[in-house]
Amino acid sequence: MSYITLYRKYRPARFEDVVGQEHIVKTLQNAVKQNRIAHAYLFCGPRGTGKTTISKIFAKMINCEDEKHRPCDQCENCLAVQQGNHPDIIEIDAASNNGVNEVRDLIEKVKYAPLKGKYKVYIIDEVHMMSAGAFNALLKTIEEPPAHVIFIFATTEPQKVLPTIVSRCQRYDFTKVSIKDMTKRIRDVLLQENIQYEEEAIRLVCQLADGGMRDALSILDQVIAYSQNQITVEDVHAIYGILSVEEKINLLKLVADHKATECMETVHRLVEKGIDIRRTTSDLIEILKETVIHDYSKDVHLLSVLNEEEVYEAKVSKTTKERLQMIDELMNTYEKYRFASNVGSYFEVCLLNMMSMEEQSNVSRETIQGNTHESVQPVIQEQEKIKPETEVIKETSKNTVKGLDKEFVLSLLVGAQKAYRNEDEIKMKQLSNYYLNPNWARFANLLRDHILVASGEDYIVVAVNNQAVANEINEQDAQGAMIDFMYVLLLKKKKVFAITEDEQRSLIQEFKKRHQEGTLPPAASVQVEIDQLELVKNLFGEENIEIEE
Ligand SMILES: [Zn+2]
Repeated sequence: MSYITLYRKYRPARFEDVVGQEHIVKTLQNAVKQNRIAHAYLFCGPRGTGKTTISKIFAKMINCEDEKHRPCDQCENCLAVQQGNHPDIIEIDAASNNGVNEVRDLIEKVKYAPLKGKYKVYIIDEVHMMSAGAFNALLKTIEEPPAHVIFIFATTEPQKVLPTIVSRCQRYDFTKVSIKDMTKRIRDVLLQENIQYEEEAIRLVCQLADGGMRDALSILDQVIAYSQNQITVEDVHAIYGILSVEEKINLLKLVADHKATECMETVHRLVEKGIDIRRTTSDLIEILKETVIHDYSKDVHLLSVLNEEEVYEAKVSKTTKERLQMIDELMNTYEKYRFASNVGSYFEVCLLNMMSMEEQSNVSRETIQGNTHESVQPVIQEQEKIKPETEVIKETSKNTVKGLDKEFVLSLLVGAQKAYRNEDEIKMKQLSNYYLNPNWARFANLLRDHILVASGEDYIVVAVNNQAVANEINEQDAQGAMIDFMYVLLLKKKKVFAITEDEQRSLIQEFKKRHQEGTLPPAASVQVEIDQLELVKNLFGEENIEIEE
């Protein structure tokens, strides 16, 4: 008999068995009870959090023949769903079938009545991967779906789904499954499988799964294959190339004691052993974060990685402030891994930076207080004081502008004028009028949470709260796609340059400093070149324009 993975074997068949997502389950259950079923749903959330599972249970419930006990798990419809061969439940993976033809086929068949059940349910997974053409084709169907059709769109990246689709769906946001819920489920599974385990090993599996129940069960599958009937912490370490908490604390100690050579040797060894450096970095952040939580709360029950003994060890004789700076440095480095091919060397630099950072803060503390070993009793106010200070150190010592060249953005700020900014700010308030406009929604939504940083004659600089959105705005602008929207919104052709809010803060500091030093770059010159005719066509549609020779 072939082996059935735990994920498939223990996949919930009823809402009662779903782990986490209580609010979603409850709302959908009520919808079924009251027969208030929408025609399109959007399930958003991280991988493995139950989007497809809940879709299938929902599809089963609305097609169940026993109206009083849905799902009855006995009628023909229920059984067909269970066996995965219900003809009216159609699953499409947009990541693999992203062609317009595929969706055309779907739309063709949408009009036919269901074969077996009451509803035809289309479950479209990773819907954000669909091509723009396919999206648009689908849009018309969603606007006026036949009464017997229900769409369930699932996505891990809702920001990439066209706003015109989102606005026509009932949206549900799935959250990561908590360690507590996950642990409980895993214990149940192991009990049913009759497998012994160390409690600590289960905690590790849950941490590795990072909120995804599906991942947790796949990890468990591998661990069981390796260790058979007794799962130990060592097994999990060995399979997943992760360090024990003790080893991670030791690494922090090497940093704290300025043992640079040993530190570098350790990193080399980790890389050679195939230890996941990204994960190690995020684990160190987690460990230090827990020490800070402990500083403030003195409550070990709030911790999930460290136990009481470890939390004191992990403070590595450093003050709260110093550990917050270390967290800052680690987080900064973690961000950079996305662009790095050699993660190990970034990690080394990070550890060295943490050493030198402490020297700096020791020196300043020595000069101010004349005492390097006083333990600082944290109070909440102090934390607020620390935050901007660490940011200044971080931001001025390194350039963190990733998307746009820092010098260029400074030159944009130099060329900006308050009068333009005041004008643009008023007009930007009209942004919300375009959120649902089929021509402009994409651009309006990208700018939805922006802060207008500066305006020049031919450009604006905006700050947004995440790097991906900033990149997307800059990309759209570089392709010339943004400028028409700016013409509609600002009544002036302007280029849009986007930075993140973090970059904004650091740039303003930098601007002030360089202004005092008199070292600011000259004002940027931004050329706006667009074809007037193209613009008019885009605004009014080609068919409405007659061209005179
Ligand atoms: Zn049934």
